[in-house]
Amino acid sequence: MPPIELECIVKFGGSSITKKDEFETINADAWSFAIEIIRKVEGKCIIVHGAGSFGHFQAKEFGLNHRLVSALVEAGISAVSVSPCSGWRTEDKSKVTSSDLETITGLLENGFLPVLHGDCVLDQTRGCTILSGDTVIEVLASHFKPKRVVFLTDVDGIYTLPPSHEDATLIPEIHFSEDGEIMTAVTMDTKSHDVTGGLKIKLQTAWNILNESKGTIPVFVCNICSKAAEYSCCHGYLYEENGTAILLYRNQDHT
Ligand code: ATP
Repeated sequence: MPPIELECIVKFGGSSITKKDEFETINADAWSFAIEIIRKVEGKCIIVHGAGSFGHFQAKEFGLNHRLVSALVEAGISAVSVSPCSGWRTEDKSKVTSSDLETITGLLENGFLPVLHGDCVLDQTRGCTILSGDTVIEVLASHFKPKRVVFLTDVDGIYTLPPSHEDATLIPEIHFSEDGEIMTAVTMDTKSHDVTGGLKIKLQTAWNILNESKGTIPVFVCNICSKAAEYSCCHGYLYEENGTAILLYRNQDHT
């Protein structure tokens, strides 16, 4: 049994909450949109955010996290910042050996909304390392078993090609097979090697969540300023397919 009923884990992508091309500049419109969505979620959720044009260390130093939490609090949301640095440990960079889940559970139980981010943490092999927000999400999803995980980003979802490409088309559903192969248009597309490292990591994270949850936790990728973002966070489906749902394809679903 999951320790607490969690509606969703929402990733505020760095590219959507900051202006990628302007050093340490927040995207105020996207913040307002995203905060409004969080207000509409009926139930408990956790936010994990990226750093975008603030970068990892600057994000901590100049307080992107602090600014986001303040904006949430000003909007009447009981958000609390939880920095992985103080309670999370890793081994060889990405294997999380301990995580401060008691604190997060306590916050959720008491009606608070935890806000986490990628962080510098102590590492048994390397001394210290950068723990990515995506790894944080995987650990949280494995423990809390939310109804869904939603990645809010600066484009409408996952496309067959980089979105700036004139032939790029949005993929409404991506299926992974039970052995981890992407079965839909991304692999059918001969130029799938064009996807950025960031997108590859997102797909890997989605697969890890689907695999760990045996497909019970769907993953969505939506534009932070879209109805699809609101619908996927609040209801667990996309608005008029204007986003991407990432799901596990099970053979028995179709026999
Ligand atoms: P993070 O906080 O981890 O950086 P993010 O949501 O900001 O998360 P990015 O890693 O910046 O995510 O990835 C989003 C970017 O990926 C988009 O701005 C988009 O231009 C780019 N991208 C490249 N190829 C694709 C594709 N095939 N489909 C969707 N986006 C793509």
